[in-house]
Amino acid sequence: MLSAHRALESILSSVTVGEAEVVHLQHAHGRILAEEIIAGEDIPPFDNSGMDGFALRAEDIAQAPTLLRLVGEVSAGNVLSRRVGQGEAVGITTGGQIPPGADAIIQIEWTESVDGTSVRVMRSIPPGHNIRRAGEDIHRGEKIFEKGRRLRAAELGVLASLGRTQVQVYRVPHVAVLATGNELVEIDQAPQQVKIRNSNSSTLLALLQETNSLPVDLGIAGDDRTKLREKIIKGLELDALITAGGVSVGSYDFVQEVLRDLGVEIRFWKVNIKPGMPLLFGVYKEKPPKGPVKPVFGLPGNPVSAFVTFTKFVRPALRKMMGENSSEKELSLEARLEHEIKTTDGKRHFMRGVLESRGGVLTVRTTGSQASNLLTSLAKANCLVIVPETVSLLRKGDLVKVELL
Ligand code: AMP
Ligand code: MG
Repeated sequence: MLSAHRALESILSSVTVGEAEVVHLQHAHGRILAEEIIAGEDIPPFDNSGMDGFALRAEDIAQAPTLLRLVGEVSAGNVLSRRVGQGEAVGITTGGQIPPGADAIIQIEWTESVDGTSVRVMRSIPPGHNIRRAGEDIHRGEKIFEKGRRLRAAELGVLASLGRTQVQVYRVPHVAVLATGNELVEIDQAPQQVKIRNSNSSTLLALLQETNSLPVDLGIAGDDRTKLREKIIKGLELDALITAGGVSVGSYDFVQEVLRDLGVEIRFWKVNIKPGMPLLFGVYKEKPPKGPVKPVFGLPGNPVSAFVTFTKFVRPALRKMMGENSSEKELSLEARLEHEIKTTDGKRHFMRGVLESRGGVLTVRTTGSQASNLLTSLAKANCLVIVPETVSLLRKGDLVKVELL
């Protein structure tokens, strides 16, 4: 059976980066940069004080304590053109421009005011002390960010300080989510007898939001070729389609058949993983061809399988489509197992785990039963524990790979 590694390779080689668009900085949070950012100016733009205190000449206070004449004041945002001469000091606040002649700032805590006309400096400081130099943070002409960087709060702050009101980012893919199954009812319905509520759509729509793509809820299709077809046609109009359920070998599993009928080219079905083995992946080319091929993910219906296959296969594809630089991968961690794990099927297992720091050491335990219908096993977890295909026994205390959820 296809390995998880090969399956992901197949997916990533099928999807392409979307187009770029210009957005206002206020709408850029979570988006991926589609341009390099070169600094147009120095940050900070001028030498300024890192402390509230007094600007002075360091050589004047080589012997401390020393009394200096107070000859003026400069606060942040104001200018003082008067020179600071020998034996003089100027009051200054954090961010205030260093007045000419001064070469150091003594913090206010190391001084005493004398009659409001002089200041007694209690300690000596070297030249440059508490001075924040122009360009210390960012040099004009410096490359600050590469294409493919996700814009978090910190990146937005940098762009704002450079006066970038607009920024080029990649388009957000619109992704359709379709739940399948005759047993499903909407979540505001009381399920009668043999029905259950559709939980997968809520989970998948939220996962899409977390990935910063745009989720489109197609609701529920029963296990009915005609209804599936109608909904899938709508889904294929968007940038990507995710279905949940109906891809196993049951007599009502029609998703694959309908996808084929509609011209979706199936790239693989079934992956050597647990949970999520029946995962299906295909691509759809519009006829006549319009844009890039559209990925279609047929996730298994069991809630844990749908969640895990989204995380391991759909999310990386969306990240590539959104232009996210693959070098910015998730942190992969190792933790000490709190108990033994045995597997017997030669599959790659993604177990739900609870990762903790105990006395500075990361430890992990699984959330109990790993059955793929147990939604709460997922809700208890904060990580996936990876058990590779080639491993059948992990002992208590072994180091295992974990991925944060
Ligand atoms: P399937 O993949 O269609 O064979 O479904 C496998 C299991 O997942 C069955 O027990 C389904 O009832 C359940 N299931 C499928 N879709 C959903 C859904 N949207 N919400 C909750 N459970 C589901
Ligand atoms: Mg089903």
